[in-house]
Amino acid sequence: MISLSVILAAASCVKLPVEPSVGLEKENRVVNYTYYNEVNPIVLIALSEAFQFSGLTVNIFFTARPLVTDGFPVYGFTVSYEFQPEVFSIFLARGLSSEDTRRTIIHELAHLKQFYTKELVMNDKNTAIYQGREINLRRMHQKGWPFEIDARAESWRLGYLIRKKMHK
Ligand SMILES: [Zn+2]
Repeated sequence: MISLSVILAAASCVKLPVEPSVGLEKENRVVNYTYYNEVNPIVLIALSEAFQFSGLTVNIFFTARPLVTDGFPVYGFTVSYEFQPEVFSIFLARGLSSEDTRRTIIHELAHLKQFYTKELVMNDKNTAIYQGREINLRRMHQKGWPFEIDARAESWRLGYLIRKKMHK
């Protein structure tokens, strides 16, 4: 019997084209449900200029209360939708300083890129496929997950570019 994870690993090697398949150039859209508008230009610069994606919609939500998992604070997380690959939701924790909010949105945008390019596919709560390899999320700490290490490197580059664009 071929296990499901083998099929998923094979499927994750097929990279989706990041250009829109139709000839229409579509605008990226940020829908900010909580009107913390400082994040909107950051999202648009990342999508349009750094990643050069088009036609994406990013919903931004600030959570009603601080986020905690396994006793540790969580600053944010990103949700991708299997049947709406051009839509993402980014949740940011309520109560962060504006510097932490800025850092968190940039980090989550690095994950958005991993999801959109299908480099990263979350299987379920316990496993993910990253660059074609299955990762058991329970077996190591979040800080050691390879896609977290790469997202931190990506967010350094992205943060640098965004600071340059916003302060000129
Ligand atoms: Zn992360």
